[in-house]
Amino acid sequence: MISALMPNYNRADLAFERGEGAWLYSTDGRRFLDFGGGIASSSLGHGHPGLTRAIAEQAAKVMHVSNLYRVPQAEKLAARLVENSFGDSAFFCNSGAEANEGMVKMIRKYQAENGHPERWRIICFDGAFHGRTLAMISATGNPNYIKGFGPAVDGFDHVPFNNLNALRAAITPETAGIILEPIQGESGIRSANDDFLPGLRAACDEFGLLLGVDEIQTGMGRTGKMFAYEWSSVEPDVMSLAKGLGGGFPIGAVVARAAIAENMKPGTHGTTFGGNPLACAAGNAVLDVLLEPGFLAQVSARSALLRGELAKLSREFPDVVQDIRGRGLLIGIKLGVPNTAMQAACLAHGLMTVAAGDNVLRLVPPLTITEQDCHDAIRLLRLAVQDLAAPKVAAQPVDAAR
Ligand SMILES: *Cc1c(COP(=O)(O)O)cnc(C)c1O
Repeated sequence: MISALMPNYNRADLAFERGEGAWLYSTDGRRFLDFGGGIASSSLGHGHPGLTRAIAEQAAKVMHVSNLYRVPQAEKLAARLVENSFGDSAFFCNSGAEANEGMVKMIRKYQAENGHPERWRIICFDGAFHGRTLAMISATGNPNYIKGFGPAVDGFDHVPFNNLNALRAAITPETAGIILEPIQGESGIRSANDDFLPGLRAACDEFGLLLGVDEIQTGMGRTGKMFAYEWSSVEPDVMSLAKGLGGGFPIGAVVARAAIAENMKPGTHGTTFGGNPLACAAGNAVLDVLLEPGFLAQVSARSALLRGELAKLSREFPDVVQDIRGRGLLIGIKLGVPNTAMQAACLAHGLMTVAAGDNVLRLVPPLTITEQDCHDAIRLLRLAVQDLAAPKVAAQPVDAAR
């Protein structure tokens, strides 16, 4: 019989009642250390006083008014995103896929308004993940996501990640822009090489293309900088955000340079809920924490602690823990045993993680984790690794006489 809740997810038989910091308490009275962070979204952990107060206070005043009116909370959040990035102007929506849709529309609109309506195609990369709407499954390009949903949406070309020659060869007179994740998340925490973003920037400048970064997973402090492009020497033209931006409250954003944003005149694009007072109150509460002096340095320090301990685990169990990837608190553990088995073993010991492609286990905890949380996570992970690394002992014959 079909469940009332549609069966499109593989859910663990586990539900949570409440949380505190990085810990979640299940309805059956157990406690779990959340190093999955609601898939890199619960950036301030659970029950964060500032975030919960901001949401409760805003909900009691006014949640939603529509974009027929000014929304001061959105104006404030936009100003802060602009002030802390390359961008000049921000648009708010409700999810990551929707932010990427907006980003692609803005890239095409810019080209159309600047005398190049024939430039509408977007170059994406193998291994990308950009979301699950009809257009974004085509931008993602994974045939498993497209199959059964009709013809792929045209306008997205794919080239190998980290291959500048292939990228240049794929540019045509119809190319409008390039979009990429500075660190590919879903496909296995695969980082752009140091010369890749500068190479893309150079190609964009040479051919009049726009460079868009999908920072839905890597942005909002996740890598130890506010945005992951900041680890490179170049700036993009447009950027999508979601996941950590609301600390668990659904909100997405597109941040763009003025030359792109100025084309988005009344009537060009929109959403009913996007940027409502409640969502933007959550976003502002998250930024209050991220912008505290020293906070991003603390993210990097926690990352260094975890990576140091993971390196030890890797030396001890080289067949199981093969490689440590990523940056900041976006950590990928390349495994020599199936990642789903490791995820299950971690969960059995009380540690929540997320599987990613390329047989990687992803650690994407709240950015607010304590040193003790890191030590606890490593202790639980070690138990799981020991379970899966245990040498297979031949079954002992049972002495029937006893
Ligand atoms: C999660 C994610 C998306 C999709 O976001 P949704 O909110 O699930 O629509 C897009 N791009 C990247 C890089 C992501 O990690």
